[in-house]
Amino acid sequence: MKLVTRAQWGARAYRTPNGATPYSRDRRGVKLHYLGTAYSDRTHDKCDDYVRQLQAQHMDGNGWSDIGYSFLVCTHGYVYEGRGLKRRNSANGNTTLNEQDYAVCLLVGSSGLVKPTDDQLNGARDAIEYCRENGPAGDWLGGHRDGYATACPGDYVYVWVKAGAPRPTTSTPPQEDDMPTAQEIADAVWAKQLASPTAPTGTDPNRSAGTFLRWADVRHQQEMTQLAALSASVEALARIVGQDVDTEQVVAAVQQAIADAVIKVDVDVNGQPSG
Ligand SMILES: [Zn+2]
Ligand SMILES: [Zn+2]
Repeated sequence: MKLVTRAQWGARAYRTPNGATPYSRDRRGVKLHYLGTAYSDRTHDKCDDYVRQLQAQHMDGNGWSDIGYSFLVCTHGYVYEGRGLKRRNSANGNTTLNEQDYAVCLLVGSSGLVKPTDDQLNGARDAIEYCRENGPAGDWLGGHRDGYATACPGDYVYVWVKAGAPRPTTSTPPQEDDMPTAQEIADAVWAKQLASPTAPTGTDPNRSAGTFLRWADVRHQQEMTQLAALSASVEALARIVGQDVDTEQVVAAVQQAIADAVIKVDVDVNGQPSG
């Protein structure tokens, strides 16, 4: 976690004698916030200034004993120590709510920059885990609007946190080299599924030439139908190239298509499924 301590961002001291009340009991979880004002992105060297300005606003404007949040996360993924651990925040709405959950504010606004960056979501996730491990805080996750009438933390942050605050995927879209080729899929399918039906043995005296011909005919039709099914599946695959492709799922779908086709041919030729 890219933690910026109070000393590092130049925080003013808690207001005394009753400032930033110590509170060491376990928390239910972590509640997220946004700024609720216009915000514009800035270079990281300006983030300290912004956090100090916010502290001044909370202490001098609101009359609070310190900056209201437990932690703040800038768009560059740095986690600023606000009141930090083991102290009651003053951001969640009332004393009960302030004691119930830690308060983590993402530096995004209600206008201007409203959507958190990937770095910021990773930083927020770091802060949540830090609170859980060291708070300690439980698994509960939510936003300021949970249990209090406010738009905070905005829809972007709220949807994300209610989804469990997952880390943004770092994987890039699938590269061409990673895509299974039609040939690779065909090979996988044929290797797994298309063992040839047992041919009648030539030493069986009960087999007539007609039996062989009939078997060859069935086999030929099976192969043609399987090929058509495979082609259709590969065409379907081509249409979804560029999205995430689960090779196992594609192979399973192709196998099913071929199995269906084989049964259909057997019914057509023999009047009953081969089982
Ligand atoms: Zn809030
Ligand atoms: Zn920053």
